Amino acid sequence: MASFRQNRCVNMIAHLFNAPIGDGEAAVGVGTVGSSEAIMLAGFSFRMSCNYSNDIKLIIYRWDTPIHVDAASGGFIAPFLYPGLEWDFRLQLVKSINVSGHKYGLVYAGIGWVIWRGKEDLSEELILHISYLGANQQPTFTLNSSKGSSQVIAQYYQLIRLGYEGYKNAMENCQENARVLKEGLEKTGKFTIISKDIGVPLVAFSLKDSSRHNEFEVSEILRRFGWIVPAYKMPPDAQHITVLRVVIREDFSRTLAERPVIDIEKVLHELNSLPARVMTKFVGDDEGSCEES
Ligand SMILES: *Cc1c(COP(=O)(O)O)cnc(C)c1O
Repeated sequence: MASFRQNRCVNMIAHLFNAPIGDGEAAVGVGTVGSSEAIMLAGFSFRMSCNYSNDIKLIIYRWDTPIHVDAASGGFIAPFLYPGLEWDFRLQLVKSINVSGHKYGLVYAGIGWVIWRGKEDLSEELILHISYLGANQQPTFTLNSSKGSSQVIAQYYQLIRLGYEGYKNAMENCQENARVLKEGLEKTGKFTIISKDIGVPLVAFSLKDSSRHNEFEVSEILRRFGWIVPAYKMPPDAQHITVLRVVIREDFSRTLAERPVIDIEKVLHELNSLPARVMTKFVGDDEGSCEES
């Protein structure tokens, strides 16, 4: 029975991603532990079904490189908030897509999905035919052979119970809470907002003035208020920018969206009363070191 529910989930998610599925045809995909396993499966399938690695250049020149989309977070956001955005199987070159059930799929940890465009995009070699209790051979192709079915059941339940409208409401709520948080941060006058309003509901921001205290200190003190807000440097070429990043979960309520701003203001107040981090700057930055002789 678990495989029935898994197939139903695969079908629903494949439709959500606009897979070209004919009448009476079943979608091709499988439940995994998360996006990480899903990405590996898609990668194996790529490598087995076309030996393209020998001549990557040729394929790139021909512009028909098959594409795998890692939609870990966005896969359960874009179809509801940006249905007109063509990122999925509507693009001919997209052959497989993964999505995490435990991010915006609204299921507890331990579930992800990989969906293939069609049967021809899933390598036969990947499919392990098993015979379970004498039933017809069932194709299976996860990397983890033994896995409880509770997550699949939870995903099935959420999809059936909430439906398209339910997921859409949940995502709109996340987006609204991101807006409340963003506006609260702007109102403090202390932060520059880096994130865009469209996309995954998150707010990335940095201090306007980090001469005395930086984002890492804000992050550290925020922990005491129960908020784990990571601070990190941007990738090469933008390393001088450090951002704090808040990802809005679907169980984050409107009142909760207002609280972090209050707590961040307390943190700023506290930092203000502390001496500037002279030592960390000296140790952490290359400039000002005594090594140049
Ligand atoms: C979270 C994430 C992953 C890993 O997903 P899991 O479901 O936790 O394995 C992979 N890629 C991207 C872009 C992610 O955001």
